[in-house]
This record gives sequence, C-alpha cells and structure tokens, in this order.
Amino acid sequence: MARADHDLHPEPAGQRYARQLLRGHGLRCTVPRLVVLSALESARDRGHLTVAQIRDEVSAAGHEVDLTTVYRTVSTLVDATVLHALVVDERVASYGLTDTPHHHAVCTGCGAIDEVPAADLSAALAAARSGSRFALPDTAGLTLHGLCPTCQRA
Ligand SMILES: [Zn+2]
Ligand SMILES: [Zn+2]
Repeated sequence: MARADHDLHPEPAGQRYARQLLRGHGLRCTVPRLVVLSALESARDRGHLTVAQIRDEVSAAGHEVDLTTVYRTVSTLVDATVLHALVVDERVASYGLTDTPHHHAVCTGCGAIDEVPAADLSAALAAARSGSRFALPDTAGLTLHGLCPTCQRA
C-alpha cells in the first residue's frame, strides 16, 4: 500500500493538543511523540492501547513509525508522566493519557481497557480506603473487571 506523499498530512486538532501536552511537560515536539499522542487522543473513547495498537492507529493516520520507535516514544512519555502504563492479569502493557484522572475497567474476554472518570468513582475509592489496611493514595486506581461491548455481543 502506497501512502508516500502524505507522510506528514496533519490532523490539526489532535496534533495541536499533543503539542500542548508536550510543551506543558517541557518535552520537545518530535514527530514520533506528536503522532503517538495524537493517536491516543483520537482513540480516547477506546481507553488504553497497547504499543501494537498505537502503531496501527499511527499508520492508519498516514504516518510510518516502526514498533521500536513507538515503544521507545511511549517509554519516554511514561517517564515524563504524560502517559501511564497498566498491566493487568499478565497481559501486555497498555498505555493511556494521564491528563484526566481515571480508573480502569478491564474486559475479562479480550483484555480491552476502558477508562472510567475518577469523579464517578471517588466515593468508591473513599470507601475502599476506609475498609482497607493498605495506604491508598488518591492516585491509586481502581481496576474493575467486566465485559466490553464487543464481548457482551459475542
Ligand atoms: Zn489509564
Ligand atoms: Zn472484550
């Protein structure tokens, strides 16, 4: 498949947001960082994505970035706290934006990870805290297990 001359064809809104995020964290706006963040931003309704899924989104948007580069870019962004990683049930790590506080809902069928806005679960976290001997900071995420829409239909 040829996608030669559109290597940098822009998704203005997504890349503008990515640029803001990078600047806000004092990071340089390299092309891999911009396209990885844009991919996560535009796929936000699907929650976390694995490195392979991020690469697929990036190439669907018309950019050629190899898996190694995506992996390295994602690691840098995790170190800079622009992204966070989640590993559940020994599955492959998936990555999500940290700009909105959220908990995670994990599909027991396919491993898809959705993000649940933290505000919706703040009472649940407070209850978990009072019922546990563990020290649970605000950043402690809740992980809920269930079935994603696709697996519910299957
Ligand atoms: Zn997350
Ligand atoms: Zn599923």
